[in-house]
Amino acid sequence: MRPLYVYNSLSRQRELFEPLEEGHIGLYVCGPTVYSDVHLGNCRTFTSFDIIYRYLLHLGYKVRYVRNITDVGHLEGDVDVGGEDKISKKARLDKLEPMEVVQKYANGFHEMMSVFNNKPPSIEPRATGHIIEQIDMIQKILDNGYAYIKNGSVYFDTPKFIADGNPYGKLSGRVVEDLLQESRDNLKGQDEKNNPSDFALWIQADERHLMRWPSPWSVGFPGWHLECSAMSTKYLGPHFDIHGGGTDLKFPHHENECAQNLGACKESPAKYWLHTNMLLLNGKKMSKSDGNSVTPGQLFTGESDHLTKGYDPMVVRFFMLQAHYRSTLDLTDDALLAAEKGYRRLMEGYHTLDSLSGSNTGNASALDQEIVSLIESTYEDMSDDFNTPKALARLFELVTKINGLKGGQLKLADVQAETIDKLKETYSAFLFDIFGLKDESSEGDSNVVDGLMQLIIDLRKEARSNKDWNTADKIRDTLSELSLQLKDGKDGTTWSKI
Ligand code: AMP
Ligand code: ZN
Repeated sequence: MRPLYVYNSLSRQRELFEPLEEGHIGLYVCGPTVYSDVHLGNCRTFTSFDIIYRYLLHLGYKVRYVRNITDVGHLEGDVDVGGEDKISKKARLDKLEPMEVVQKYANGFHEMMSVFNNKPPSIEPRATGHIIEQIDMIQKILDNGYAYIKNGSVYFDTPKFIADGNPYGKLSGRVVEDLLQESRDNLKGQDEKNNPSDFALWIQADERHLMRWPSPWSVGFPGWHLECSAMSTKYLGPHFDIHGGGTDLKFPHHENECAQNLGACKESPAKYWLHTNMLLLNGKKMSKSDGNSVTPGQLFTGESDHLTKGYDPMVVRFFMLQAHYRSTLDLTDDALLAAEKGYRRLMEGYHTLDSLSGSNTGNASALDQEIVSLIESTYEDMSDDFNTPKALARLFELVTKINGLKGGQLKLADVQAETIDKLKETYSAFLFDIFGLKDESSEGDSNVVDGLMQLIIDLRKEARSNKDWNTADKIRDTLSELSLQLKDGKDGTTWSKI
């Protein structure tokens, strides 16, 4: 397998990727909290991980990709003031069952993932389906002395954890002393915690809470950080290959996941931590509250003050590929217009390449070598921490060669048949398997063909009902000359290629 380098947030270094078990990869990505429509920022993060997943599969790894659904435990706002569970709150406001809220937005999330052509994960566990595992994990942390119980709630004991030499703050780069001073985490009542940096593992809840479960400590619900520790451990083991999520999750969510896993299993959960950067709109963080946001739906229809027109989801996906996953990505109308042109040029390159065939001279010319080395560089860029913008740039260099070969500026006789075959294989692998783009132009063409065929079928039907046999026969004969066959059945007329 070709060497792969990844930037590990834990070491803050680019590292050679070495799976824990030869040929196999365990990948965990924090999924969405399903209490509102999925926003474009979420789509960027999950699309980045989809491309990473696709590339690992393409390299030949067997990947178990676990991406959870958070349906309990994620509290609203600063929690020191008794923050409410986001899903519970939505259910209360909309007079719905919490599971109705979860189902509605999980469905919407799945639809959006499929619109962007993201592959489903291998396992998509939900937090509410793993309460037993979460209770077990809390018990282990308590048994190991890293948690304490207060009024039926359980808190992680950060000073004790740190005093025993454990690395709290290592992933997020936070200074332990600062952490001990401040807290932005799940805290029901400030006075209940021994220390501001402690965080809730289990939260006691009264009957006003719509989602609560019995536990050895109280009727309540688990803390948000705990679900990912419990579910990643269950499906990937206490130590697995890659943990991912948006960079905004590094602290406290991922830092606390590390602490919980170490506290319960004495092992750090993941060998490599990968974090994707944020999506901006016109240079500012995309945010619903100050009006600086565009929904995926608005992006497709163009119904937004920020846009001059609607864009195809594949253009948006192409736009995302143009930035490295660790860089911020600024969504602007101009950038989308440019992406639309780029996407078309890339797809046209594919069709032009399809019509080319190389000679069999066996002479490796300079041009031949240039193409071979561009193919290799495309892989090298992608294997260098999944550098999609660089790999895309190589493909565009190849498009220039492809167009030159088609237009006659470059000689097809200078390229060996096997190089053309390799180029076709690589180009199509990158476009469709790795970048996950779809050829909307051909889909658009097939819609037009379907529409035209339906029109012809309707005209023939009309002619027959008017006993205009000449027209009806002419339609059938002309289609037959084009190798298209009409079949009259009890449900109407269908067509097929002969
Ligand atoms: P949430 O549903 O808020 O828990 O977020 C789900 C995923 O989307 C997390 O990995 C977040 O880091 C990521 N995310 C949230 N906002 C953005 C944004 N503006 N840009 C990129 N990713 C984001
Ligand atoms: Zn998580």
